[in-house]
Amino acid sequence: MILIDGKKIAAELREELRKEVVELKVKHNKIPGLTVVLIGDMAPSQIYVRMKEKAANEVGLKSEVIRYPGTVEEKTVLDKIDELNKDESISGILVQLPLPKHIDKQKVIETILPGKDVDGFHPMNVGNLSSGYESSVPCTPLGCYLMIKKIEPNLSGKKAVMIGRSNLNGKPMAQLLLKENCTVTITHSKTKDLKAECLEADIIVAAVGIPELVKADWVKKDAIVIDVGINKTEKGIVGDVAFDEVSKVARALTPVPGGVGPMTIACLLKNTIECFKRSKN
Ligand code: NAP
Repeated sequence: MILIDGKKIAAELREELRKEVVELKVKHNKIPGLTVVLIGDMAPSQIYVRMKEKAANEVGLKSEVIRYPGTVEEKTVLDKIDELNKDESISGILVQLPLPKHIDKQKVIETILPGKDVDGFHPMNVGNLSSGYESSVPCTPLGCYLMIKKIEPNLSGKKAVMIGRSNLNGKPMAQLLLKENCTVTITHSKTKDLKAECLEADIIVAAVGIPELVKADWVKKDAIVIDVGINKTEKGIVGDVAFDEVSKVARALTPVPGGVGPMTIACLLKNTIECFKRSKN
């Protein structure tokens, strides 16, 4: 079984991006800039933002975090996004989710210029992705896609099963694999026989949020299994895939932690650089 080492692949990607930033600086006399807006003091969001800032600095991006208390008015945030949209030194804007209840998430997402939407959540980017046009792609599925391609460069005709249909994971992941000519099935909580669907799959991407849902007898021999889940349990953080047993069947599998997570952050940096390059064309 191939252990898909997300940490290592992400480190290689960051190194490629670091070199690209140097080249872009020479070419344009500017470096791509990422601004993260963080609202409130939720511990996981604080940790994610710190990790993103550290990674951005590591590859040489200009990075900035704007912090607001959880009580900030929606208008203040929207006005700030407008200001960032107009600032030419900023290539990418990310508003860390989740947001406090009084702030309309969709309004925030739609206020970010599609060309600076490094999360790929703006309806224009969602539409472009599903139409097969150039767009920002949500960071987690993009990271999963890059890992799958490392294992299997030719995905044409493969059967891929997404577990979960969120806008963040399942849906964009399905679009990426469809573009690669996979035959894609998207499953969800109302799917009648999830095990039977999974048993058909050459590629399984689990993004559910249920600890160790995917068992060894759900997985076809030699399938590639990507575990997006992050679940806090009594035995620590586990994914949506029962790692120990599935590792005996699968051709390749991502660990949790150390699989999808590091790739998500590296892909945020990649998206920032892509936004910068598109703005120069
Ligand atoms: P989400 O928005 O809660 O979506 C979960 C999806 O799973 C939904 O589509 C839901 O179906 C489906 N589902 C629930 N129970 C199911 C079942 N028994 N069988 C089949 N499908 C079922 O979650 P998300 O934001 O996509 O996140 C999923 C997991 O990934 C979470 O553990 C999250 O922490 C993790 N995550 C990790 C990263 C990373 O960087 N590693 C990034 C983002 C998220 P319905 O649509 O029918 O409700």
